[in-house]
This record gives sequence, structure tokens and C-alpha cells, in this order.
Amino acid sequence: MEQTLIIFKPDSVSRGLVGEITSRFERVGLKIVALKMMMVSHKLANKHYPSERTEFIDGMGKKTLENYRDLGIDVKSELGSDNPHEIGLKIRQWLVDMITDGPVIVMVLEAPHAVELVRKIVGHTLPLLSPPGTIRGDYSYDSSYRANTGKRPIKNLLHASGNLDEAKFEVDLWFKKEELMKYQRVEEQVMK
Ligand code: ADP
Repeated sequence: MEQTLIIFKPDSVSRGLVGEITSRFERVGLKIVALKMMMVSHKLANKHYPSERTEFIDGMGKKTLENYRDLGIDVKSELGSDNPHEIGLKIRQWLVDMITDGPVIVMVLEAPHAVELVRKIVGHTLPLLSPPGTIRGDYSYDSSYRANTGKRPIKNLLHASGNLDEAKFEVDLWFKKEELMKYQRVEEQVMK
């Protein structure tokens, strides 16, 4: 059994997509064990998107470089750098600004393989490349090029923990232990 954290970023909240998206998780059998709506402080946003987590910062930078290469766009003239770490730090700052800009909904979902299951349902980071049937593919057409020329993060509706270690860190960061509910869903009997 795993727990994973999802955040409805301000774009999905302001577009009124919370109910529709939540039902996609529920119908698969993912159990909601915690849920809250809040404005995010800069302190919390900086902890959630830590600048010292090199693999996260460089990962965003590398994905961006690959995407620009595929699109045939000169990354240096668009972003002022072709260094993955510098690009990652720039995107991180946009993310902090975006997630503190309007209310978010934060949720912990539980199921066997919850981390992988949720990432599959959510889809690719870039909505343009996320297949139909995924949340990002079905509800957004954003691309890194559109985002970066607007000096903003990609509007891809949700954050979802990337792996089990990240999920544990994020669940602890956003919720107290007593806020996590324990109850049974019928799927647990049917698929035991
Ligand atoms: P994911 O959210 O799929 O785990 P990452 O951890 O790589 O993706 O990136 C975190 C968030 O940063 C993304 O969800 C997206 O909103 C934003 N982002 C990633 N790459 C870019 C980019 N090239 N330009 C703008 N925003 C980006």
C-alpha cells in the first residue's frame, strides 16, 4: 500500500476542474485519505520545490533542453542560458510564484502502487505530449515553448509525487499524521 500527494495547482482550481479530475482518481479505486484547500505560503512553496534538490532542478532543465532541441528552438536566446541547472532554477522560481498566486487543493491518495498509478493517470509533464485519456492530455494544450515565452510554468493542472521517497517527504510536508484518515473502500475486498 502506498500514499502519494497531488496538488490541484491554481489553474485547475480556477478552471473548475477539481470535481471532474477527482472522480478520475476515485473510479480507479484510489482512496482519498486527506484533503484541504489553502493559500500556500512562500515558505511552504520553497520547501515543496527545493532549490537544493539538484536532481529535481537539473531534471526540469534537461527536459526543457530536450524539448527545445525537438522543436528546433534556440534555448539560449529564449531563456538566456543552455545550462540545465540554471534553466531549472529559473523554472523553480516561476513555480513558487505560481503556486502561491491562488488557492490550491492538496490531496493524499492511497492504493497499491499509488505513486505509479497516479502518474499514469496524470500523464506527461507537457500537456502537448500527454496522450488523450490522461488528465494533462485531456484538459490542457500547453507546451514549454508557450510557457517559457510567457515566462511562466507549464499549466498542467496537477502536481503528483514522482517516486515513493518524494511521496513520503511531500505527505509529511503538507499534512500532520492525524489528518490522514483510515477507512476501507470496497475495492480492497474485491481485489484483495
Ligand atoms: P512533473 O510535474 O511532471 O513531475 P517536473 O517535476 O519535471 O514535472 O516539473 C515540475 C513542474 O515544473 C511541471 O509540472 C511544470 O509545471 C513545470 N515545468 C517543467 N518544465 C517546465 C518548462 N520547461 N517550462 C515551464 N515550466 C516547466
